[in-house]
Amino acid sequence: MTDFAADREAMVERQLRRRGITRQPILDAFLAVPREAFIGAEYAHRAYGDHPLPIEAGQTISQPYIVALMIEAAGIKPGDKVLEVGAGSGYAAAVISRIAGKVIGIERQHDLVEVARERLQRLGCDNVIIVEGDGTKGCPDEAPFDAILAAASGSHVPNALLDQLADGGKIVMPLGSPGWVQELVRVTKRPDGTVDRENLGGVRFVPLIGEEGWKDA
Ligand code: SAM
Repeated sequence: MTDFAADREAMVERQLRRRGITRQPILDAFLAVPREAFIGAEYAHRAYGDHPLPIEAGQTISQPYIVALMIEAAGIKPGDKVLEVGAGSGYAAAVISRIAGKVIGIERQHDLVEVARERLQRLGCDNVIIVEGDGTKGCPDEAPFDAILAAASGSHVPNALLDQLADGGKIVMPLGSPGWVQELVRVTKRPDGTVDRENLGGVRFVPLIGEEGWKDA
C-alpha cells in the first residue's frame, strides 16, 4: 500500500503552516489523520491536493486548509465538546477528535453515516459519535457544546445551534446561497447570552439542507 506520510507532511507545511495555521495541536492533528482513508481508492493519489474531493452520496470532503481554518477560528482546545454539522466522510471529525475531548458529528445522508462510522472505528477515533439526522436541529441530548462547526452553507445560523452553544462558545459556519461564494462567519456567545458575529472571508460549501436550512431540491 502507498505510504502517504511524505505527502501529508508537505500538505501540512505548504497548505496549513505557510498560510498562517500555526497552533501546533492543529498541525499535529492533520499529521496524524490519513485523508486517503476517507475517500474512494480512485481519488487516493489526490488525497493531499489543495482542494475538496468527491465522496459518496454526491457530497465532498472539504479542502484541508478550510477545515484547519474553521478549527482555528472556533478555538477548539483539549477537553472541548464539539458538534460538527455535516460529518460527511468523517475526516474533519477525525481531525477534531485529536484536539478536542469529544466530537459529535451529525450527517443527514444514511450512506455517509455508515462509512464514516466504519472509518472512524478502524482508525480508533473512540471519542467521536456519528449521529444520523438533521444537524440544523443540533443534538440537544449532548448539549451544551464549546464549539459548533458546520460544513454546509445555510441561510442563517440555526436557532437550535445558538441555544446549544455554551457561554463563551463559538459557531463557525458558512452562510449564503448554494452555488455562490458564501461568507464564513464566526458567532461567539457572550456570557449574557448576546452574540458577536464576525466575517472570516469567502468560501464555497454544499448546501445545509434541513428544517433551519435550505429545502431539499
Ligand atoms: N466535514 C465533511 C468531511 O470531512 O468529509 C465534509 C462534508 S460535506 C462538505 C457537507 C455535508 O453536510 C454533506 O455530507 C451533507 O450531506 C451534509 N449536510 C447537509 N445538510 C445537513 C444537515 N442539515 N444535517 C446534517 N448534515 C447535513
